[in-house]
Amino acid sequence: MKRIAVLTSGGDAPGMNAAVRAVVEQGIHHGLEVYGVYYGYRGLVEGDFRLLTLSDVHHNIRRGGTMLYSARYPEFKHKEYQEKAISQLEKFGIDALVVIGGDGSFAGALSLSKLGFPAVGIPGTIDNDIPGTEYTIGFDSAVSVALDAIDKISDTAASHNRTFVVEVMGRHAGDIAIWAGVAAGADAIIIPEEEFLIEDVVRRTEAGRSAGKDYSLVVLAEGAMDVDNFVEQFQVLAPDQSVRGVTLSHIQRGGTPTARDRVFATLMGARSVDLLIEGQKAIYLGVREEQLTVFDIVETLEKTEHQVRQDLFQLNQKLTDRGN
Ligand code: ATP
Repeated sequence: MKRIAVLTSGGDAPGMNAAVRAVVEQGIHHGLEVYGVYYGYRGLVEGDFRLLTLSDVHHNIRRGGTMLYSARYPEFKHKEYQEKAISQLEKFGIDALVVIGGDGSFAGALSLSKLGFPAVGIPGTIDNDIPGTEYTIGFDSAVSVALDAIDKISDTAASHNRTFVVEVMGRHAGDIAIWAGVAAGADAIIIPEEEFLIEDVVRRTEAGRSAGKDYSLVVLAEGAMDVDNFVEQFQVLAPDQSVRGVTLSHIQRGGTPTARDRVFATLMGARSVDLLIEGQKAIYLGVREEQLTVFDIVETLEKTEHQVRQDLFQLNQKLTDRGN
């Protein structure tokens, strides 16, 4: 193996740069040339490849976003585009590819593997929604940003005895809502994976007030319900409460990656190169019980579903069920 390439795809996530840097450092350490593919799968099909050096990447470990840029490129679902991508890779003499992204990006990597081109995936998405792994790069940073914003909102909520409904990201997964909600002591956490009744959420906030809380907090995952709709229905059921809705939106994607995201990104970036050199062709990396784990991309991606931390969700339900 002489040359490998790395790309980032889908939504950007803090820590992606740390992973790119580790791929480049480890590749160079093993005597390889490492190419960056710009703008995800679009760049792969169009041949937007540039040779990366240590000076391109070393300072990026602490930067959010992705230095390789990203793009949504639905065309890549079609075989003719995947074949074009492989022709570009062959034209540049590239032997294997590292894909950093979410489950959609992994489906792209899987299609390349099925066509015989070696690919390894590194989970990079704030949503934490990739099957098999308990953690994805960027999730910890996103939770930390969301929590910081929720804490600030809680200060003003308490000063006016308000109820705030805070909508967080996560696409179809409730992970950010669960972690930020538990860490903020939310009265209720609403996730797409669990059915809910707004009456029950009202009951929990009222029970909290009766028990002495001076504000109420509901953390709502974007995949569960639109925040304006939620607030409207909540207000009808709780006319005495002063209710406000807030959408945190894209700030959750930005900012300095946390130490956890940088450390796991570095571990995964370096390991991905080692695995390609060992001859792996269709795998992705993840974390289980704090240990780096290798998954078969075909087996795991196609046959497993992402699971949220039900234990954390249920714990919060129990703590905030004050029984009125
Ligand atoms: P995030 O969820 O964090 O935004 P993601 O990787 O899941 O990340 P997607 O927009 O779903 O984001 O996918 C990124 C890109 O991966 C798509 O724009 C497309 O180029 C490619 N892709 C998605 N699904 C497939 C598929 N089934 N087959 C081949 N390529 C795919």
